[in-house]
Amino acid sequence: MKPLQIKPGDKVRLRDFDPEDTSAAPGDKAKTNNANDRLTERLCELQELLYAEHRHKVLIILQGMDTSGKDGTVRHVMRGVSPQGLRVASFKKPTELELDHDYLWRIHAQAPANGEIVIFNRSHYEDVLVVRVHELVPEKVWRKRYSQINEFERMLTECGTVILKFFLHISKDEQRERLQARLEDKTKRWKFQHGDIEERKLWDDYQKAYEDALEKTSTDYAPWTVVPANKKWIRNYVVANSIVKALDTLEMKYPQPDLSAEIID
Ligand code: AMP
Ligand code: MG
Repeated sequence: MKPLQIKPGDKVRLRDFDPEDTSAAPGDKAKTNNANDRLTERLCELQELLYAEHRHKVLIILQGMDTSGKDGTVRHVMRGVSPQGLRVASFKKPTELELDHDYLWRIHAQAPANGEIVIFNRSHYEDVLVVRVHELVPEKVWRKRYSQINEFERMLTECGTVILKFFLHISKDEQRERLQARLEDKTKRWKFQHGDIEERKLWDDYQKAYEDALEKTSTDYAPWTVVPANKKWIRNYVVANSIVKALDTLEMKYPQPDLSAEIID
């Protein structure tokens, strides 16, 4: 079994990662969902501490092909977490104003503050993914972005940000089923976009662009995890478990209040 976290210098071939892989799970679906419930409770506690301590910033980046479950991951992993101190930033096609700036401008503006958890639903990685696949800028421009992104993320971590990056890895067959379900289910149809079919035709180009991004931007301070995402219960487990583990290592403490004037009438 390959470890799911990419180490700096690792060669990344996505076909080596099985989107159906369940070996990281603590048991079958029922057992894993129980573990997910416990992880959710722990995450709630850790988020309260993070907010109270007001010392660390947490940035969680979700990337993946269309239908890979970015929205669902936010919904499941963060369920129960207090909305105070939690924010989701979704990055769509840049506006004209955003395009008039450097590509990290809109990203940096959404970065977390002390005590905050921010989830990026898509991110600056789109600028080496969709932008590369569709040649929205010349190669010599996007090529430079890997090192620019590494430097940007290094700066964020040196300023107290914990960065965790998740690639939700689904198979092409799974995407077909999910797109089909989007068309058939009226509660999901709103998510279906015509462009999704065109993008699916570029599957191989996207996989290649993802391999390069994972390989070039997985660092000690901002590592990528390849999440087997065909099954939602294992996807939720891998993401929640990684976040809880990372927050546990911060050894946060509730701040000591100033009790010198504690007279309550
Ligand atoms: P969705 O996440 O399904 O709402 O779709 C958002 C769309 O915005 C996707 O098709 C992304 O590829 C696109 N997008 C996000 N960031 C960029 C970017 N920097 N340049 C071009 N397209 C982008
Ligand atoms: Mg979409």
